[in-house]
Amino acid sequence: MSEVASKVVSKKKQYLKVKKETPRKREAALRKVDFSPTYFLFNREEADRQSSRCIKCPIDLLKGMSSEFSFCRTGCPLENKIPLWIEATKNGDIKKAFELSNETSPFPEILGMICPHDNLCQGGCTISKTESGSVTIGAIETYLNEQAFQMGLVPDYGQNVPKSGKKVAVIGSGPAGMSCATFLLRAGVEVDMFEKSDRPGGLLTYGIPNFKIKKEVILRRFEWMQEAGMHLHLDSYIDKPEQMKEMIDEYDAIFVGVGAPDGRGARMKNEESHGVYQVMDILTHAQKGVFEDFYENILKDKNVIVIGGGDSAMDAVRTSVRMKAKSVRCAYRRDADNMPGSAKERINAQEEGVIFEFYTAPKEVIVDKGNHVEGLICEKTALGEPGEDGRRKLSVVEDSEFELECDVIILALGFDNHEFAWYSTAQINAGRWGEIIVDKDKRTSNRRIFAGGDGVTGADLAVTAARDGRTAAFNIIKDFGLGL
Ligand SMILES: Cc1cc2nc3c(=O)[nH]c(=O)nc-3n(C[C@H](O)[C@H](O)[C@H](O)COP(=O)(O)OP(=O)(O)OC[C@H]3O[C@@H](n4cnc5c(N)ncnc54)[C@H](O)[C@@H]3O)c2cc1C
Repeated sequence: MSEVASKVVSKKKQYLKVKKETPRKREAALRKVDFSPTYFLFNREEADRQSSRCIKCPIDLLKGMSSEFSFCRTGCPLENKIPLWIEATKNGDIKKAFELSNETSPFPEILGMICPHDNLCQGGCTISKTESGSVTIGAIETYLNEQAFQMGLVPDYGQNVPKSGKKVAVIGSGPAGMSCATFLLRAGVEVDMFEKSDRPGGLLTYGIPNFKIKKEVILRRFEWMQEAGMHLHLDSYIDKPEQMKEMIDEYDAIFVGVGAPDGRGARMKNEESHGVYQVMDILTHAQKGVFEDFYENILKDKNVIVIGGGDSAMDAVRTSVRMKAKSVRCAYRRDADNMPGSAKERINAQEEGVIFEFYTAPKEVIVDKGNHVEGLICEKTALGEPGEDGRRKLSVVEDSEFELECDVIILALGFDNHEFAWYSTAQINAGRWGEIIVDKDKRTSNRRIFAGGDGVTGADLAVTAARDGRTAAFNIIKDFGLGL
C-alpha cells in the first residue's frame, strides 16, 4: 500500500472509531424556566475527540491538493480555513487556531453557535456521508475562540495598524455592519457606526434569543471594536434625506446594513386586534427583559398561538414557554418534514411542551366586544404533487374549519425590506421589494455607497450578512488604495 493510501486508511479508522458528538444540552425541565443557553460549550476532551476526526479530506490527500480546497470550506459562505484551525486545535495550538479562524471570519465564536452548520460546512464535510457523521465544526470553532479569550487573546481590530486618514460611515450594527467595520478597522480605516437601537448587534442582540446565544458574547465584540477606536452612535436612526446628504459630504464611503425589518402579515380577518403581535415585538421585548432583569410579562398565563414554521417561529414558541404562557401552540400549514426551520429547534420546542398543529392554515381571528383576541379560526390543508419550485402544492380542505382557543397570536411569517426615503437622495437603486441592488462587489448604484446583509438579500443568515460586509469592506479598502 502506498504511503498516501495507508495514511487515508488510518485516518478513516479514526473517524469511524470516534462518532460525531454534538454539544450536550440542558434538560428540558430545567432550561424552559429561564433564558440561559440551551447547549453547553464543548470541553477540552470533546473538542479534542471531534477535531481528531477531521481527515483533511482523503480526496485532497490523494490528489496532493492542499486542504484550502476542502469541502467544509466550500460549504462555508465565508470560506473559513476550517481544516487548518481544526488541525491547530487538535495540536493544542489555540493561539494559531484563533488567528486562523479570525482571519476570515469577523465573529467565529458567534457563528460557531448560530450557523445552520449541517446545511453549510458540516453538510460539506466528506465524512458527513458516512454513518459516523460529520466533524462537529461549529462547536469546535466556538470552543477554540472561547479558550483563546480565556487566555487573554483579543481579536485583530487593527490596533497596531497606522491610521489611513480615510473615514467610513456604517449604517446598522447587525452582522453585516459589524463585519464591514471589522475588516475596515483592520486596514486602519476610521469607522463611525450608526444604530437606531439602544444596543448594538441587530438581530443577534434583539432577535435571536439568549437561550441560543448569550448577549454578553455579542456585546463583547463591540467593546473590543470601540477600544480599537470605532465610534458607535446608538439611538441614531438615519431616516431623513438630509442626514444622508451630510453623510455623503463627510465620509469617504458609506456601508448600508439595515436588515429586513418589516414583519409580514397573515391576511386574516381581524388581524389588527389586541393580542396579535409581530414576532419581533415579542422577541425584542423578551431580549430587553434579559438585559434589564425586569419587564412587563405580556404572555404570562396566556394561551399563545404562533403562526409560521421557520426559525423565528421556533424562537417565538420557545420564548413564550419561558415567558410562562399557559399553553403554546405552533400552527403551520405543512408538516414537520416540510418546515423551513431547523428540525433541531422543533425538537427542542417539543421537548419543552410546545404543541404543533400541522396542516393548519389561519383564517380569521375571533375577537370579543373590546376587539381582544379570543380564538383563531383555522382550516385544514393538504399537500399535493410537487410544483415547479420542487415544493409540494398546498390546498385547503373543503369544510374543514375549526377553532383554536387563544388570547395571543404571534405572526412569524417572514420579513420584508424597508425602502428608506434617502435611497433616492443617495441615488441608491432598490428592487421591487425594497431590497437594495448591488453588484458582486456589494457596490450600489452610487459608487461610494456599499450595502449587504438582509437589506440586500431579504431575510437570510448571519453568516451571509457577515460575508457581504467583508466583501464590501475589501472593495472599499481597494478603492482607497490601501493594502489588505
Ligand atoms: C428571530 C430570528 C432568529 C434568527 N436566527 C438565526 C440563526 O439562528 N442563525 C442565523 O445564521 N441567522 C438567524 N437569523 C437571521 C439573522 O439574524 C439575519 O440574517 C442577520 O442578522 C442579518 O444581518 P443584517 O446585519 O443584515 O441585519 P440586522 O441583524 O437586521 O441588523 C440591521 C441593524 O440595522 C439597524 N438599522 C436599520 N435601519 C437603520 C437606520 N436607518 N439607521 C440606523 N440603524 C438602522 C437595525 O436597528 C439593526 O440593528 C434569525 C433571524 C431572526 C429574525
